Amino acid sequence: MLAASASLLNIKVVILDVGEHSPAKQILAPTDPKFTHIDGSFKDPEKILQLSEKVDVLTVEIEHVDVDILDKVAQSRRVQIHPSPSTIRVIQDKYNQKIHLQKAGIAVAEFLKIPEPTPEAVHAAMDKLGLPLMIKSRTLAYDGRGNFVLRHASEIEEALATLKDRPLYAEKWVKFEREIAVMVVRTVNGTVTSYPAVETVHKDNICLLTFAPLRSPDPATIENARRLAESAVLTFEGAGIFGVEMFQLLDGTLYVNEIAPRPHNSGHYTIEACETSQFENHLRAILNLPLGSTALKVPSSVMLNLIGGSNDMSQLTSFVGYALNVPGAAIHMYGKTECRGGRKMGHITIVGDSDAQVNDRLRPLLTQLPIPMS
Ligand code: ATP
Ligand code: MG
Ligand code: MG
Repeated sequence: MLAASASLLNIKVVILDVGEHSPAKQILAPTDPKFTHIDGSFKDPEKILQLSEKVDVLTVEIEHVDVDILDKVAQSRRVQIHPSPSTIRVIQDKYNQKIHLQKAGIAVAEFLKIPEPTPEAVHAAMDKLGLPLMIKSRTLAYDGRGNFVLRHASEIEEALATLKDRPLYAEKWVKFEREIAVMVVRTVNGTVTSYPAVETVHKDNICLLTFAPLRSPDPATIENARRLAESAVLTFEGAGIFGVEMFQLLDGTLYVNEIAPRPHNSGHYTIEACETSQFENHLRAILNLPLGSTALKVPSSVMLNLIGGSNDMSQLTSFVGYALNVPGAAIHMYGKTECRGGRKMGHITIVGDSDAQVNDRLRPLLTQLPIPMS
């Protein structure tokens, strides 16, 4: 999606990813040998170095990259890196991210380090924070792969076996009323602008739906969410788009759950529903171009993730065939070659004149989803 935005602005992009025909490379065919894409991992320092030699500005779409090499590239001052490597470093370790936010006075749920992945250490965290307890991997986490909900002390061994030898920390269970997300775009001068607050609905720790704008009767919540998200992003360095995930409690209190230093799933709705998409504004921000408006251009929208139910792609293909009949529905398939259970293969955004109309358009799709709804 970033590649698609870049292509509309004639911005030349070199992509580093595994595979000659990985999704972004399918969008941008190099027109000059200088801009040929790189086949390799974004964790491979050599490949990152190779990429840095071809570009003026380097950005990431995932935070799990090798930061040591980014630091070295940044020192050379030939290439600008956005967001800054220091931001990526703090965010890629969720425990350090929480410490950073807490020190900056940003509200987060109570959390504790689990110094070693041992039953005793988990027990100690449980004694302090109570049950249920959210045990999280500090690193390499996404789509809830790295989270374990401990409901009883007898599950500690299972939790450790599931999370293997990953570095862990514990979070107090948050009885949230809803989950809210706000996309924030930060310029090279350090100013921030936010998109409207949205509600995200997760199933099995994976984002399934995003309702935009936030369907809250309380305008204060919307403003508070935007303000909290902007304050959180102001504590980091470097330009670009950031996704801020929050929990809202019944009394309106907001906590930051986590921050993504990149385009985010909860901002995909901006492609059809806002005047400028998160992807375009990310490009504008990192290239120091004027930002586009973040305002909604439709009264209501919902984004539905297309998550693989198994390794059988045909289920999703027939679902998409069905979705083609839904008015206001825009389909995005990502061109991933392999379908797997729990893998995000695409998404659909439905826009409409009212929340009621969007609900009516969404409802039949939910009954046809290849994954069971509960
Ligand atoms: P992603 O990066 O894909 O958003 P992740 O793997 O980093 O996900 P989290 O965002 O930490 O995982 O958690 C996933 C979901 O689990 C949250 O959106 C929320 O629904 C639930 N969750 C996380 N932390 C807590 C908590 N402390 N209490 C209750 N629920 C939680
Ligand atoms: Mg995450
Ligand atoms: Mg998350």
